[in-house]
Amino acid sequence: MGRGGANKNRKPGAVAVGAGSARGVASAPAVGANWSPGAKELARRVEHAAETKRSDRRGDDLRSHFIVDRGAGKVAPELERAFQAIQQAHTIRGLRPVRVRVVDGRSHRGCFVRSQIPGDYTIEVGREDRAPAAVFVHEVAHYLDAHGFGDQDTAELASENGDVFAQWRTAVRASAYYSDVDRKCVVSVSQRQMEVSRYEYLLSDRELFARSYMQWIALRSQDEVLLAQVNEGRREGIPTQWADDDFASIAAALDELIDGNEHLQP
Ligand SMILES: [Zn+2]
Repeated sequence: MGRGGANKNRKPGAVAVGAGSARGVASAPAVGANWSPGAKELARRVEHAAETKRSDRRGDDLRSHFIVDRGAGKVAPELERAFQAIQQAHTIRGLRPVRVRVVDGRSHRGCFVRSQIPGDYTIEVGREDRAPAAVFVHEVAHYLDAHGFGDQDTAELASENGDVFAQWRTAVRASAYYSDVDRKCVVSVSQRQMEVSRYEYLLSDRELFARSYMQWIALRSQDEVLLAQVNEGRREGIPTQWADDDFASIAAALDELIDGNEHLQP
């Protein structure tokens, strides 16, 4: 189960070297049967090997932060899909690892659990969920919010207080999605209380961050399953995801946010 679509990795390190060596190879046959790779071709191969190694290391760094249940079963390949998608956008270094439990129960989608012990985190993913990869990426956002950006001891969520989220918060508040859902919320205040809490939940910083992170990972990885989940979220009764053009400045804010964090470097 590979990634779908093009690799939109933002920092393709090997491009310049590869383009140069293509010209080198084209002129080489004139030398004859004893032709051996020229300096440019060798440099390209060395760079390619180094890039592969870097990519493997980034993947290993990322995965080392997740202690996955042995009993993940059919959800395991979906978690692998999520790791590969996240890896397209950033790695994780030097954070406390989080346990990943696959839990039974039809209504259970996923959650991020912080225990009383600082640094004790668990991500739960529902075994029967129809989109475990998207759920997992969403919960990873809560983990990063609490631990990657937040206070590592109190696990206070950075999305709700942190100055570092200022640009992201501005972009989210300025989106058409936000004012649309916000307006619907005001209208429904006179209606059922349950409906109001659903709006409040959707418009909380922590949930906006988790959903914007999932959409950003889908966009940067072009993973077809995650992209399908984004589309599905747009069609829900109260939409949960942004339209593409509405999301552009939020994606840019997330680029900045991740690039600026020492633990989450590309
Ligand atoms: Zn959530």
